[in-house]
Amino acid sequence: MSINKLTWGSYAGQSAGSLRFTRREALALGFCLCCLPARGFATESISLKDIGSGLFIREAPHEEATRANNGGIANTGFIIGRDSVLVIDPGGSLADGQWLRSQIRKRTNKPIRHVVLSHVHPDHCFGASAFAEEQPEFIGHHALSRALDARGSYYHERLVEILGPESVGGIVYPTREIEDVAEVDLGDRIVRITAHDTAHTDCDLSMFDTSTGTLFPADLLFVDRVPSLDGSLPGWLNEAKRLEGIGAARAVPGHGPAIVDFGPAMAKQVRYLTVLRDETRKAIAEGVGIDKAGRVVAAGEAEGWALFDDYNGRNVIQAYKELEWE
Ligand SMILES: [Zn+2]
Repeated sequence: MSINKLTWGSYAGQSAGSLRFTRREALALGFCLCCLPARGFATESISLKDIGSGLFIREAPHEEATRANNGGIANTGFIIGRDSVLVIDPGGSLADGQWLRSQIRKRTNKPIRHVVLSHVHPDHCFGASAFAEEQPEFIGHHALSRALDARGSYYHERLVEILGPESVGGIVYPTREIEDVAEVDLGDRIVRITAHDTAHTDCDLSMFDTSTGTLFPADLLFVDRVPSLDGSLPGWLNEAKRLEGIGAARAVPGHGPAIVDFGPAMAKQVRYLTVLRDETRKAIAEGVGIDKAGRVVAAGEAEGWALFDDYNGRNVIQAYKELEWE
């Protein structure tokens, strides 16, 4: 079964928590395999982009998780500050996280003190075990642990089927939970971390590097790849406004180019989400059934979005289930 036929968000309520490890347990179980000889991961061929001022981004392809990409399908990166390194999403698997960690170590020996887990989707947070040996703070939304309880073991099992157990690693829970807004000091620069209301998922964080004015909205912003809705459609539109209020000129989207002009990129996503909302509401008002709605709603928005046919129908169904109770 290909994981691309799974919407990460469709499995709330799956069996919980058997793979929950403390940092010490994870190490004892050997999930941190960074000391083993490096394999020739396909991700080696994907270069890291230096976008200046100590910011490095791995620009991921618009693919689904495969053995060839080791689950490295989301943008990940790190910020090198004066005193320490902060990782913004550790990657999609142990192997992907190991690759990212090796890229950091090619550039600096400063301690990796913070690893941000932007939300529950495995392409963003399943690389965390690669960093356990560094003993960073694993930073997550206050709802992330609950989301990992609900879905983590399911995601893990599916990813093991695709990548093999040796490449997946264990699930890491946040050791620091963000309730609202928090700041992390890397010595010479502050990264502001915001816990959002339910939007792309119910546990989205965004990060803002105050020294460069760079926003890291993670999957609150998709560029080129069609957004996938796994939280709340009106909520996502609200949180988009909140992000726009930060006034960032540039952003690192969760999927898409390493760095984009924030305004036009978010405007394009807002357009799609608005059409999705309005046409879903219209379908509900006209008594169009959910299956038919999934085939017709927002169908005119396909241009310019990769994987549109894979995700739009599921977005409509998610939106329909939410909006029919308005
Ligand atoms: Zn996501």
